[in-house]
Amino acid sequence: MTTAAIIVAAGRGLRAGGGIPKQWRPLAGRRVADWTIDRFRGQVNHIVLVLSEDDVPAWAEFENTDLILTRGGSDRAGSVRNGLASLADFAVDLVLIHDVARPCVGLDTIQNVLDALKAQPAAAPGLAVTDALWTGDGAIVTGTQDRSGLFAAQTPQGFHYNAIVAAHAAHPGGAADDVEVARAAGLDVAIVPGDADNIKITRPEDFARAERILGTDMDVRLGNGYDVHRFGDGDHVILCGVKVPHDRGLQGHSDADVGMHAVTDAIYGALAQGDIGQHFPPSDPQWKGAASTIFLRHAVELAEKMGYAISNVDCTLVCEYPKIGPHAPAMREEMARIMELRADQVSVKATTSERLGFTGRSEGIASLATACLLKS
Ligand code: MG
Repeated sequence: MTTAAIIVAAGRGLRAGGGIPKQWRPLAGRRVADWTIDRFRGQVNHIVLVLSEDDVPAWAEFENTDLILTRGGSDRAGSVRNGLASLADFAVDLVLIHDVARPCVGLDTIQNVLDALKAQPAAAPGLAVTDALWTGDGAIVTGTQDRSGLFAAQTPQGFHYNAIVAAHAAHPGGAADDVEVARAAGLDVAIVPGDADNIKITRPEDFARAERILGTDMDVRLGNGYDVHRFGDGDHVILCGVKVPHDRGLQGHSDADVGMHAVTDAIYGALAQGDIGQHFPPSDPQWKGAASTIFLRHAVELAEKMGYAISNVDCTLVCEYPKIGPHAPAMREEMARIMELRADQVSVKATTSERLGFTGRSEGIASLATACLLKS
């Protein structure tokens, strides 16, 4: 089964305020469209993003990514038809059509629609109406509407690809959504359970609501790391990727970068994936003298693979000498470069231990680190 999702993002959506189309407005640290696109990554084989020709920066941004880009039509149905056409060469069996303005869609909703398509040519999430319904004339209630059998329609709406292509080709236009197009072509549409959190951002206040929903979904992880290396002969130490001249060196199996090791262990810790020693055993001669960059990159890539973004890291070096302060900006820059973060996401600071203990006697350097990882 080859599956695809079409995310319709060509609308100008100015009703939600902000002066730019709602899909490009910020939401919980990203843009609405970023949240929506990510919901489908890993759930389907192909993702089509339908963009307005006017969204020039978006075309440039998404050009060489995993997304298939296509331009919007003169109305929503036209945009969907273009999205369907862009999948013509991908042998797609099932296609999901989703509004970009629904960034809170749950993975279970997506899966429920795909599952229902095993038995039906079309399926979509619907939320049974539970509130009493009135008719009204301005500020006055004029009647009560029977709510039995009424559903609020949501997306993604899913279809057998060939069936919905044919249905759109035959439809005269003016449909409220793709379910209406499918029904006009005689397709049975299964209703799968909708989700009250799968809101469509329409009005300005919907942004705060979406942020609350996404916030409660957020998986925040903290990890700590601690490392010590002993001084030995040498004329420099490597700390947080920076070579610092010193009258002694640090001993260790690798380059003995005690700061980078603590940060690496903090990331492994946040992921609950052991520590450096587990991934790079000191008994293995291939890591002798290795640049610690290899360890840190491994932890960063593991985080990425598990779906976590590093929000920030904080590293403290404990030593009397060398003095860290003058080198701290370069250390932050270098660590940020390796982790592909901004320098303001990386902190490197230092303290002495008041000449107490092994660091106070300058027998070695200790380092502590904390990492914060986010998954949404
Ligand atoms: Mg170490």
